[in-house]
Amino acid sequence: MQALKRQIDSLSDGIMKFKQAADPPAVDAADRKVRSVRTEQTRFAIEGSYERFLVQHLKAAKRDYTDGERTEPLCSCANPYCELKRGRLPPEVFLGESTDEGIRDFMIQHSGDGRVLNEARDQWVEDAGVVIQTLTEALSILKANEPPETDDAENEAEDEAEDDAVDSELDDEPAPSTATTGD
Ligand SMILES: [Zn+2]
Repeated sequence: MQALKRQIDSLSDGIMKFKQAADPPAVDAADRKVRSVRTEQTRFAIEGSYERFLVQHLKAAKRDYTDGERTEPLCSCANPYCELKRGRLPPEVFLGESTDEGIRDFMIQHSGDGRVLNEARDQWVEDAGVVIQTLTEALSILKANEPPETDDAENEAEDEAEDDAVDSELDDEPAPSTATTGD
C-alpha cells in the first residue's frame, strides 16, 4: 500500500509544481478537482491509516453480520475462534515486514477465504484509485494550462438546479482527454 501513497504524493508534488506556471482558470479548475478528494487524500497521507481502516472495516462488517444486514460470513473457515469472524485483525498480520505481507502470510496459513479482509483491501485500493484518478485529471489540466471544456463548476450549478440527487454522478464523468503529455 506504500506504492499507492507514493503515487498520490508524487501527483501532489506535480500539481504544486505545474500550478506555479499555470493561468488562473486552469488553477481554479484543478483546485476544484483537488478539493473534491481532499478528505480522502488526507487519509492516505497519515501513517498507520491503512491498519486503522482495516480494523474499522472488520468491526463494521462484524456488526452488520450480527445485525443481519450482511448475510455473507466474514470468513469461510470452520474455526469458531477465527479472528476475522469475530471482526478482528489477526495478530499475525502485524508480524510481517509490512501489513500486506502479514496479511499474505496469514492467508497462506488460514483455512478460510478470509473474505472480509480481501474486501477491506479492495475497498482501500478502490478509494485510493479515485484519489489518484482525480489528481491525475487535475495535473493534466495544469499541464495543458486550460480548464476542461465542460467545467465541473458549470455542471454543478446546472445539476443543483435540477436535482440534488444527481450530484454524485459528476464523480463518474470520464476525464477530459485533452492533455496527457509527459514530463
Ligand atoms: Zn477464518
